[in-house]
Amino acid sequence: MRAPSAAGKVWLVGAGPGDPELLTIKAHRVLQSAQVLVYDRLISQAILDLAPASARRLYVGKRKSNHSVPQGDLNDLLAALAGEGLNVVRLKGGDPFMFGRGGEEMLACREAGVPWEVVPGVSAALAASASAGAPLTHRGLAQAVTFVTGHAAPDQTAGGFGEPDLDWSALARANHTVVVYMGLSTAKVISARLIAAGRAPTTPVLVVENASQSVERRALTTLAGLAEAAKAFDSPSILIIGETAALADTAGLSATSSVGIEAVTPSLLEKPA
Ligand code: SAH
Repeated sequence: MRAPSAAGKVWLVGAGPGDPELLTIKAHRVLQSAQVLVYDRLISQAILDLAPASARRLYVGKRKSNHSVPQGDLNDLLAALAGEGLNVVRLKGGDPFMFGRGGEEMLACREAGVPWEVVPGVSAALAASASAGAPLTHRGLAQAVTFVTGHAAPDQTAGGFGEPDLDWSALARANHTVVVYMGLSTAKVISARLIAAGRAPTTPVLVVENASQSVERRALTTLAGLAEAAKAFDSPSILIIGETAALADTAGLSATSSVGIEAVTPSLLEKPA
């Protein structure tokens, strides 16, 4: 699209949160035309199975602190494959441009003069909010939503994780939903910083693991209970912090989610003024 007439192309495709039905029709169509599939660990098998059996599959997955393919090499790889004239589908969990480093891959293609196109996907925040019945915005409860990353580099001296670099006072405003991607390992510091910055310790928090998948689990807790509740969850999990989390459907909570759950504050459920 953006290069002269190379036959190859890199598609940066949002694969959504896991449920194949949450793929867009465009993502499905592009997948079916893939000659090479480049994917990581957030992509479910059911989605990979939608690509032709003949497509070459390249796993470039990584776990925190254990990158199997450095991002720079991956960028080069995508551009090189397309340079060979191949139709390359780079599948990214959720949306490629939401904490997915899709921007870096797009820039690498642009620099290499390789045609590229981005297909947006359903981001984890949207899927987690939808399945729990906890809107990200809601009249009278949340007039804004902010997406942040809770990622922080491992702190060697402390033997754990450092602190995410965030504007805590801005995030501590009430009637505002804060969605934290990659926030499980830093849940304790996130909770402490938000409370210190003035957010009420009773603020509802929803933790959702594997949103949209059959193995989805979630817990409703509070900012004060978050550190404890987070211990019962594994990656990928997302945190929805804010008044609207109280609207979450608690009937669907799994047995493991009893940790740190507090009763939903009835006043939060009153009709907005
Ligand atoms: N581009 C992705 C986010 C990649 S960052 C998107 O738009 O969703 C990876 C983080 O996303 C995980 O640590 C987790 O916080 C979140 N995540 C991705 N898939 C998820 C899922 N199915 N359920 C809950 N959280 C998920």
